[in-house]
Amino acid sequence: MEDSSDLNVLLIYPKVPDTFWGFQHAIKFINKKAAYPPLGLLTVASLLPENWNLRLIDLNTSPLHSEDLIWADMAFISAMEIQKKNTDEILELCKKSGLKTVGGGPLFSNRYEDYLDKVDHLILNEAEILVPEFLNDLRKGIPEKVYSTNRFCDMEKSPIPKWDLLKMDDYVCMSIQVSRGCPFNCEFCNVTSLFGHRPRVKRVDQVIRELDELYRKNWRGRIFFVDDNFIGRKRFVKKELLPAIIEWRKDKKGIVFNTQVSINLSDDDELMELMVKAGFDSVFIGIESPEEESLKECNKKQNEERNLLQNIRHIQNMGLEVQAGFIVGFDNDPPDIFERQVRFIQKSGIVIAMVGILQAPEGTRLYNRLKKENRIIGEITGDNVDGSTNIIPKMGIDKLLNGYRFIMKNIYSVEAYYDRVKKFLKEFRPPKVYEQISMNRILGFLKANIRLGMLGKEKRYYWKTILWTLLYKPRLFPTAVTCAIFGYHFRQICRKNLGLDI
Ligand code: SF4
Repeated sequence: MEDSSDLNVLLIYPKVPDTFWGFQHAIKFINKKAAYPPLGLLTVASLLPENWNLRLIDLNTSPLHSEDLIWADMAFISAMEIQKKNTDEILELCKKSGLKTVGGGPLFSNRYEDYLDKVDHLILNEAEILVPEFLNDLRKGIPEKVYSTNRFCDMEKSPIPKWDLLKMDDYVCMSIQVSRGCPFNCEFCNVTSLFGHRPRVKRVDQVIRELDELYRKNWRGRIFFVDDNFIGRKRFVKKELLPAIIEWRKDKKGIVFNTQVSINLSDDDELMELMVKAGFDSVFIGIESPEEESLKECNKKQNEERNLLQNIRHIQNMGLEVQAGFIVGFDNDPPDIFERQVRFIQKSGIVIAMVGILQAPEGTRLYNRLKKENRIIGEITGDNVDGSTNIIPKMGIDKLLNGYRFIMKNIYSVEAYYDRVKKFLKEFRPPKVYEQISMNRILGFLKANIRLGMLGKEKRYYWKTILWTLLYKPRLFPTAVTCAIFGYHFRQICRKNLGLDI
């Protein structure tokens, strides 16, 4: 270990359990093994010395063999809270094999005290700053136990992820990150405490190089801009980034983008036009609540005093599908909040509606406030759709849980879901550049015909939606099939998490 030259290194990404965003039940239809690649780990890989031999093991796509553990001198493990169970199992295996471990990512940062005895070295904040420090100490033979910093890295120094390590065909989409940080300050969100208020951005030529790299590696399909708020630096995005992506995309085939934005996107037609022209077809937005007082409570200023339904429709009409997050359990939630959430979601045509119970991650202002009020009970699970919380809600936990189950049942039961799909298909004006149909998707359609159209209890709704789409919105036919497959996944998740019979 003291001589760090020519090491054999495993980069391990633990298994993500069955979750709303894991899409495990949907990706089987299209012969994929995971939705997203481990972008953080691939970026860390680029920070490691060139002469090291690297092997990526994404437990979501391939197993970890004992030969891998024998081959390796060191293992870098990156994990989120939700991957805790498998992370602990992997650490146990590494320990048994006498393999040195380096842990990084939100799981280790949030619970670093729990991992002091289980991991040899902990990288608690941004890898671009701390991995070089660790390597330097390793070279000198004096690596420390914990590496942490309160500095934010310069995104211009973030390297291109090492895509060579990845078997791209196993994944539904690739990922890219342009910025970190968000100008807003929602009380429950840890993005600003982790990454700061002023979004830091990569240079445009850097982003284009990353896109080039993915294209050169023959990636034709969806690319997810993982930024917490893609439009956090609006001027930069409008004047520099999007024009460059539009130019880049001119001679490229089969690339579609999606990302996360704030609702103020709906105020800026020029921005939406540019996004659509650049190849974006969907955005995720934190809507949180139709209740004005709850929005005020969590400091969701950008959502206040708006006609949120109208805003969503406008974005859909401009050619961007809206996916959204909703939260119940605010102190100011009125008794009828559950019915109102259902009504809002059904009216909005938001097919992918991630509804969660309010949770307080450590480091957030919400956590600090509720801690003072003795209303924190334990830690978050990292899955915001599993019906769990670590807070004592004002309305009482039973009422909240029952209300939560009511919402999920009434938005994901077959009839309500297909109703919403139709609403969305009616409102959505798809951009001219739309995702290409691959062999896998044709196969997915055939499988959906059997699984949903013949065996599923949704068969009537499935065929009705398919026929309606073919008649009235034929260009949206692939979207309709995708929505049907997603619905199947969401129902499985509701059954597993909440025991709902839907
Ligand atoms: S807008 Fe989104 S990313 Fe920004 S602080 Fe609010 S929840 Fe977090």
